[in-house]
Amino acid sequence: MHWRSRLLHPPRRAPDGFRSLAAPVYRGSTVIFERTADIRDDWRQASHGYTYGLYGSPTVLELGARIAEIEGARHTFVVPSGQAAIATVYLAFCKAGSHGLVPCNAYGPNREFAGGLLERLGIEIEAYEPAIGARIADLIRPDTALIWTESPGSVTMEVQDVPAIVAAAKARGVPVALDNTYAAGVLFDAFGHGVDVSVQALTKYVGGHSDLLLGSVSVADERLYESIGSVWSQLGMAVSPDDASLALRGLQTLGIRLERLEASALAVARWLESRPEIEAVLHPALPGCPGHDLWKRDFTGSSSVFSFVFRPQLPATAVAAFVDRLELFQKGFSWGGTTSLAMIYPDLRRPQRDYAGRLVRLNVGLEEPGDLIADLSNALAGGRSRDDGR
Ligand SMILES: *Cc1c(COP(=O)(O)O)cnc(C)c1O
Repeated sequence: MHWRSRLLHPPRRAPDGFRSLAAPVYRGSTVIFERTADIRDDWRQASHGYTYGLYGSPTVLELGARIAEIEGARHTFVVPSGQAAIATVYLAFCKAGSHGLVPCNAYGPNREFAGGLLERLGIEIEAYEPAIGARIADLIRPDTALIWTESPGSVTMEVQDVPAIVAAAKARGVPVALDNTYAAGVLFDAFGHGVDVSVQALTKYVGGHSDLLLGSVSVADERLYESIGSVWSQLGMAVSPDDASLALRGLQTLGIRLERLEASALAVARWLESRPEIEAVLHPALPGCPGHDLWKRDFTGSSSVFSFVFRPQLPATAVAAFVDRLELFQKGFSWGGTTSLAMIYPDLRRPQRDYAGRLVRLNVGLEEPGDLIADLSNALAGGRSRDDGR
């Protein structure tokens, strides 16, 4: 053979005897079949063998298997982002003429997808009050195809009575999806509480270092594995094995990171509660948070993200100036990484309350809580104490 041909046809050698603790990064779009009789095109690679890289290389499938094992799911589809996971679920359950329900405090881009692309496709998604509980039954119609839950909800952190919603939905045969990102798939047992589909932005706690975007869609039921898999495979939701290997690495420290983040976030939240400028701290583990009793009943811990609300006297410009004075807390979207973040929501309104310009959301990272509290204290004091101290 010419050397140019030999370059393309190396002798295949499996890496015999090399045993490492790290998950190998397997690349590949094309998958080689041994004989023509073996040629298949099937997305069910986990059970039917490898067919094409679009449905995941062994690295991606390993990540899916690990998430499924941790969440107690039958199968986990790994997708390119948390938002991709949300879109997959909507498109798997809804068709033209369908009705769906989503909490009004759900992740913003979830509601934008509902009011944007889905509306264009003739799908009606109705927002509901997160504290609705069993009264969700009043909103279920014959054409209701999906009920979303997200607990605690994004930014305003209301904890939902997921078991009550599940019971009402089951009575009418409507599937319930949960955005389980806050709980990292471990602090709330989605399938134990009867949820049909559990979604995570792996971008947050599983990735854990603000350097990748990934999502997961987990199901416990064989029928849902088939129906979601069929839509997922058609959408072309391919995932890079490099990102999957980073997420597998993230899983190794998820336990210790969550433990530390919980303790630090609580220390910062309790300090904020003691401050006269603050009207409320919206942290599920604190009694002031709407749905706190439900959190105590259903969750095994809290994580790193929470919000607080300034007293109404303070103008929105002063709240923005406070955030600008923070030095350790960086300003940026997303959360669940190692670095502390602060974010403002100038237009935030909920049906029962107007938080406009008064709410700040924090992601507490792995810095020393004492330094974070000093940063907040300094910013509350108008930035003077730190300057004076220098
Ligand atoms: C961040 C987030 C998502 C979306 O995740 P991406 O990977 O950023 O697309 C979905 N749900 C919740 C609750 C989130 O916080």
